Amino acid sequence: MFKLTLPAAAFALLAASPTPARQIPDPASVATLRDDALANDHYAWDLVEGLTTEVGQRLAGTEAEARARDWAVRNLKALGFSNVHVEPFTMPVWTRGAESAEVIAPYPQKMVVAALGNSASTGPSGITGQIAYFASVETLAAAPDATVRGKIVFIDHHMAPTQDGSGYGQFGAPRRQGPTIASKKGAIGIVVRSIGTDHHRNPHTGVQDFADGATPIPAGALTVPDSEQLIRILTRGQPVTMHLTLVSEHHDGTSGNVVADLPGRDPSLPMLLVGGHLDSWDQGTGAVDDGAGVAIATAAAKRIMAAGHPLRTVRIVWFGAEEPGTFGAAAFAKAHGADKFAAMAESDFGADRVWKVDTRLGAGRKVEEDALFAALAPLGILKGVTDKAGGSDLDALVDAGAPVIALRQDGTRYFDWHHTPDDTLDKIDKDQLRQNVAAWTAMLAVLSGGMTEPKRPVRR
Ligand code: ZN
Ligand code: ZN
Repeated sequence: MFKLTLPAAAFALLAASPTPARQIPDPASVATLRDDALANDHYAWDLVEGLTTEVGQRLAGTEAEARARDWAVRNLKALGFSNVHVEPFTMPVWTRGAESAEVIAPYPQKMVVAALGNSASTGPSGITGQIAYFASVETLAAAPDATVRGKIVFIDHHMAPTQDGSGYGQFGAPRRQGPTIASKKGAIGIVVRSIGTDHHRNPHTGVQDFADGATPIPAGALTVPDSEQLIRILTRGQPVTMHLTLVSEHHDGTSGNVVADLPGRDPSLPMLLVGGHLDSWDQGTGAVDDGAGVAIATAAAKRIMAAGHPLRTVRIVWFGAEEPGTFGAAAFAKAHGADKFAAMAESDFGADRVWKVDTRLGAGRKVEEDALFAALAPLGILKGVTDKAGGSDLDALVDAGAPVIALRQDGTRYFDWHHTPDDTLDKIDKDQLRQNVAAWTAMLAVLSGGMTEPKRPVRR
């Protein structure tokens, strides 16, 4: 839905151009925008600083996420975007209560734990059980049920940092699949080694779902140092008993996607969609996941707004409820699956520098792809593949054929903080944040269809 007043001059320019949708701005003007974004803070820091300070954590479906949507609407309007609104949806909400873990034998000591999303509640009195150790999900799956029944499963792994974050797929299995397998084998609870690459005493939470009819059981993540400590205790050879308290609640709730537009001169053209997710886990303030992402995408669109009037509409979406299972993405795909998009992109991998760009724009887009690669190369961004890209909130639309670009961020540090109490503003490097905004600004400039000079004063 657009409310547009197109200046007469824009119609004249449009009519003069035989193939407006394919118009590529000249490389010098793209470079000017990109280099200005690299040299100056344009809104991204202010947005992520404001969101994490004035709202803080934004757990999906809670009152905190609702406050975040109000904050988003207020700030997107203040930046001058049009059509700013919330598209609400309902969802199952899981919230965390008291949580603790304690080895009670043979060497009594406290450990630091966090419940995983959708964990069953132990109730305030907790559960007590013997630890059954497994080096991997595969060894748990292969174990006789009798070795697990009535016990608390513990699953180890050896995730190490990688630039592309690919370890999260393989080494995330204990969190994603472990609770279901443990439950089906009769375990009374499960703790996993945090899916993280740090050695701080911060547990990494994250979502898991009990699949295949598995009965929900209490499921938590021990910090990496506590997991290593537990293994040393187990290695001594005596049975190890743990008391585990993970209190949580389920209820139905409401979330929403926040949408804002930078209207293009020709609203009939497929638009550009950029965004990130507004919700966060509840322990930190969601600075790198994903306050930085919504800030980067929005700052780039604002930079384009300040530079002129794009031919295509740029739509910004701050998705709700990504963390518990991309509920916002599903609602958006349901509402907008029939819309036409020229390209879409999501920033959801922290705030460190973009090092590679992958695309999947489809046939006939080589001129735009080449212009994009050329515009990003001076930022040190490698040309990646042209047949595979995505984003967790975009994949439903991408699977249905929507064109997509992935500006890949350096993930070497990301899983030190991901889903921990340590996901806070101080982890964001301002220079690298600017490099992100420069890359996104260049991308939008290349794909905007070409810009006129500003037709009206732009609030800065
Ligand atoms: Zn995220
Ligand atoms: Zn996340």
